[in-house]
Amino acid sequence: MRFEFATATRIIFGAGTLRQLVPLAAELGLRPLVVSGKSVERVAPVLSLLAAGGLKPVSFVVAGEPTTDAVRQGVAVARQNACDFVIGFGGGSPMDTAKAIAALLTNPGELLEYLEVIGQGKPLEAPAAPVIAIPTTAGTGAEVTRNAVLASPEHGVKVSLRSPHMLPRLALVDPELTYSVPPSITASTGLDAFTQLVEPYVTPTANPLTDSLCREGIRRAARSLRRAFRDGSDIQAREDMAVASLFGGLALANAKLGAVHGFAGVLGGLFTAPHGAVCGRLFPEVAAVNIHALRRRDSNNRALGRYEEIARLLLGAPGAVAEDVIVWSTVLCRDLAIPGLAMYGITAADFPRIIAGASRASSMKGNPITLTETELAEILERAL
Ligand code: NAD
Repeated sequence: MRFEFATATRIIFGAGTLRQLVPLAAELGLRPLVVSGKSVERVAPVLSLLAAGGLKPVSFVVAGEPTTDAVRQGVAVARQNACDFVIGFGGGSPMDTAKAIAALLTNPGELLEYLEVIGQGKPLEAPAAPVIAIPTTAGTGAEVTRNAVLASPEHGVKVSLRSPHMLPRLALVDPELTYSVPPSITASTGLDAFTQLVEPYVTPTANPLTDSLCREGIRRAARSLRRAFRDGSDIQAREDMAVASLFGGLALANAKLGAVHGFAGVLGGLFTAPHGAVCGRLFPEVAAVNIHALRRRDSNNRALGRYEEIARLLLGAPGAVAEDVIVWSTVLCRDLAIPGLAMYGITAADFPRIIAGASRASSMKGNPITLTETELAEILERAL
């Protein structure tokens, strides 16, 4: 057995830990570029806290999921203001934007030179500027991952900027920040976290360290996602989901993902749709097609046993079988009101280009079995 595990230099977790931000930020510099989402009210207390602590924060807003242009603009703003480090405050979108800006602040040249799939995929040579990542959704786990997912509208895809240099210096995970997340975003982001715990558990590159994180995270998400959706003020459920999101990030950064994310990256580039809701809708269908393909073509693959273990965790029943994962997740998505993919304007006519893109996606390589074009089309058909 061989494995490697890399994560943020430091992780601080707990309700109220945002109040520790000033001394932690002051260790990294004086002028942070504070990257946040479109809500001015949500980031205002953070900017005030930093300013009151003697720092000189510079605000940069990213309106939706990040694009290559947003990153270029952020780098320009950081340079104009001589920012010495970057804080990403928000969901995966601001955190990823912050990580990408920090990487380009210290590495010469154009963003495209470093991007996989659509660019040259050159390695980042220099360590990124220091990043503090503060998630406000539970969610992506992007506070502990080494990539930033960026949309390139001219190429019609979402691709990653990826490097061990992009691991944040500090992940500050305060579940209190998620209390204001409305039910629909609690559902979509929570399903992203859930998927990021299951895909690294069934991937061939899973290791004992990621396995233990996945088991614990799946247990917590299974007991708390519905609760957080129904009652956003359920503190215990919010804490469970913040742990699940963090553990998903730790797992995906050190194992691989699978077909759900292989598709989600392509769909996110071609259509406007919340990443987590797309993952949630695809999850039961990918599980169904994967389990069926494994039983038919590769019945000794350990992923089958893994699906069975997941079913036991989800149902809390020792007799559960792999197929129970499909039923359980279908019911969950229905309870969380996750719509079909047709809702985003996707039709069967789009399948060939979606399948072509997904087959090239790096996440697809983590799927426990190579799926045929017919099987990939079946997943889309069922998820429509
Ligand atoms: P997001 O950051 O786009 O935020 C979704 C919505 O939630 C926004 O409207 C935002 O304003 C709102 N929101 C955020 N915090 C809130 C709060 N506390 N209260 C109320 N509303 C709040 O969504 P996300 O799902 O967190 O991130 C999605 C992005 O992350 C995608 O681009 C996806 O590709 C990427 N991602 C990256 C990684 C990684 O490892 N780097 C992993 C998974 C996903």
